[in-house]
Amino acid sequence: MLFRELAEYFQRLEQTTSRLEMADILKELVERAGVDEVDKVVYLTLGELLPAFRGVEFGVSEKLMMEAISKACGVRAKEVESLYKDKGDLGETAHYLVKWQGRGLSLSQVYDELLGIAKTRGTLDKVMKLISLLKGLSGFEAKYAVRVVIGRLRLGVGDATLIDALALSMGDKALKPLIERAYNLCSDLGLVARRLKEGGVGALEEFKVQVGYPIRMALAERVVSAEEIVKRLGRCGVEAKYDGFRLQVHKDGQRVEIYSRNLERMTEMFPDVVRGVLKDVKVSRVILEGEALTMNEETGEFYPFQVTIQRKRKYGVEEYSQEYPIKLFCFDLLYIDGEDFTLKPFIERRKKLEELLSGTNTLNVSEMFVTDSVKEIEAFFEDAITRGLEGIMAKRLDAPYNAGARNFNWIKLKRSYRGALADTIDVVVVGYYYGKGARVKLGIGGLLVAVYEPSTDTFKTVSKVGSGFTEEEWIRLRDMLDQIRLDHRHPRVDSLLEVDVWVEPRYVITVNADEITRSPLHTAGRTSEEPGYALRFPRAVSFVREDKRPEDANTVEEVLRLYQLQRKISVE
Ligand code: ATP
Repeated sequence: MLFRELAEYFQRLEQTTSRLEMADILKELVERAGVDEVDKVVYLTLGELLPAFRGVEFGVSEKLMMEAISKACGVRAKEVESLYKDKGDLGETAHYLVKWQGRGLSLSQVYDELLGIAKTRGTLDKVMKLISLLKGLSGFEAKYAVRVVIGRLRLGVGDATLIDALALSMGDKALKPLIERAYNLCSDLGLVARRLKEGGVGALEEFKVQVGYPIRMALAERVVSAEEIVKRLGRCGVEAKYDGFRLQVHKDGQRVEIYSRNLERMTEMFPDVVRGVLKDVKVSRVILEGEALTMNEETGEFYPFQVTIQRKRKYGVEEYSQEYPIKLFCFDLLYIDGEDFTLKPFIERRKKLEELLSGTNTLNVSEMFVTDSVKEIEAFFEDAITRGLEGIMAKRLDAPYNAGARNFNWIKLKRSYRGALADTIDVVVVGYYYGKGARVKLGIGGLLVAVYEPSTDTFKTVSKVGSGFTEEEWIRLRDMLDQIRLDHRHPRVDSLLEVDVWVEPRYVITVNADEITRSPLHTAGRTSEEPGYALRFPRAVSFVREDKRPEDANTVEEVLRLYQLQRKISVE
């Protein structure tokens, strides 16, 4: 397949705002691609080179790209810059300036060059490689290649649409759950597409967990009482809910990799966990999950989540880890020496985990006991809260590990305040307002936020948020949002409201609110007969959650459940 053909598909995708049409175009595209091309097609369509957990980044800023365009096209840097200002898009700028025909490169040739650019360290070498890439492409091809390199492809295609397209390409929509399952086990849609093309349905049926491929994480539903836990689960495992950083640890011989909640590679951030795993875990290959917390060794108390996350600063991690050592509270075991544990019942996984970690230091097992007594659960909950924990988790004893799913096999019970919702809500920022009064000088005064609707892979608005951030945070946020601004509503955003600036749905923030109400202004939960749901008195309680992807935000259904929960509480 030629790179030009892929660029033509990208152009078609860009021109549609209908998700169904997108799935049809993508179906055609994956059918057109060869076995050794389809994975590359999938990554590039998502604007990536490899799945995020590989941690491969281009490291090419707009400035560097402008330098490369200027040198490749023999145009002064100032001119490139003013053209860019004019067009607002470096892809269009390259399209305009590249006057040659290109060499008719294949998709794989361009992909290899792109990978080469990402793997090159020095800026000078990167520029040389960018120039050579641009020289081989036509203006039309350069437009898309440039956008990929600077992370601005933005076709509006999400994982769910691609999964639909793969099912369509097999001529059978009923295959979707099988494709989703494989994806949940490896988090690599390119790999799934390739296997499907190579080995058909059979290859997906045999799909297994592999060390080095993060498993999409199981999530919990929420309830508001211990009673409801027992009603739903009966005898269950009850654990402390730690407020730290969720990690999935993969050990393969002497090699350890660590992935975050949204499946980014985090290995460098946790050198002490890596050492702990190598020292403590006596089997050769294993995948386990836990919550990482920083602990004050002297008092035995945990520091707040903010202290743990500080490690994201890339420099000084070693020093930081000396000062704030991590403890990993492990709560699940997903794989051990060739054996996939995800299908085994929770209680069996837990037993094996306890065996594996007995007498270890950096790695501990989470506190857990088995009960069916409401009283015992309540007492444990109260105790957890007084110890400064977030609440408790309850787990169904005979449930498998539900990769990528949120259901009642795992239940969380968190402390809740009067006049507040049973839980905070994670929402995606889809646009912002310039604001009024004192905010005008900040250039931002409010956000339009949305929740996720998996059935249509879209974002439905649920609130405006205008409080909870400091001035400095507002400014930081505006800078971040300006990097992803759009001149029209994003195709996956469903909104009745207008904003001053639309942005790509990328950043997740956590908000709290007093209440959920019905509202004709918002699209979350709206049908032809019924109004949508909205948050009343919303306030941000976190800055941008770097551990969540937009699809990890709460869903419309969860908002609906919170709405029902609140009605139940007020009736009681
Ligand atoms: P929250 O904002 O409540 O953390 P979330 O969407 O990040 O929500 P949930 O599924 O709602 O995730 O809650 C489960 C989270 O709680 C897990 O992702 C994990 O990070 C954390 N956690 C803490 N202790 C435990 C435990 N013992 N077992 C499972 N998860 C735990």
